[in-house]
Amino acid sequence: MDYKFSTASKFCMKCKHVFNELEFFMSALANVAADDSASQTVSEDEKNSNAGLSDYQRVDSCLECWEKDIEKEIKYFSWWQMQKAPKKKLPALKDLEFLWQLFYQARTILENIDTDADIENDKIAEAENFAYVSALGLMRMRQLKLASYENEDESEFLVFTQTGTKNRLKVKDPKINAETLSKLEEKLEKLSAQRFDTQ
Ligand SMILES: [Zn+2]
Repeated sequence: MDYKFSTASKFCMKCKHVFNELEFFMSALANVAADDSASQTVSEDEKNSNAGLSDYQRVDSCLECWEKDIEKEIKYFSWWQMQKAPKKKLPALKDLEFLWQLFYQARTILENIDTDADIENDKIAEAENFAYVSALGLMRMRQLKLASYENEDESEFLVFTQTGTKNRLKVKDPKINAETLSKLEEKLEKLSAQRFDTQ
């Protein structure tokens, strides 16, 4: 699986309200393999742009429609609050939309290691690095809060809680040095710029 990044939908996928610059809205991942109801409101274009997430599909909703989903107890795999970005490109580590996409794509790769026999070790290492730097970025942006450290199989893990939710997210500390970290940050800038090249 390659990393694919899309800009958030320009409008609420439920009521078609067009998001204003800096408006808060919700992004959620619906497991389309398990639940078809969420996918019906998503266009083919949106499906293609999110193809990297395989069984998961991103649904962007305005806060009003989100409240209605909660009342209807619609189940999502994961969700987070977004803010419609200003028109100019932000640095990757300050771009919430980009950081969340990177974080979940890296985690999806790591969660599927057992079932993906062909995955190469350097892909795994890259996904661990991406999950880690995006989590640190999200922590700086107050989306995640560091709750604890855990040791397991001779590795150290950071346990985060997601702000405003009870979600606990465990991220391996890949113990990278400063040089690797700055190379990773360069790579992040390139990945994040992809979204603006394709528009
Ligand atoms: Zn709406």
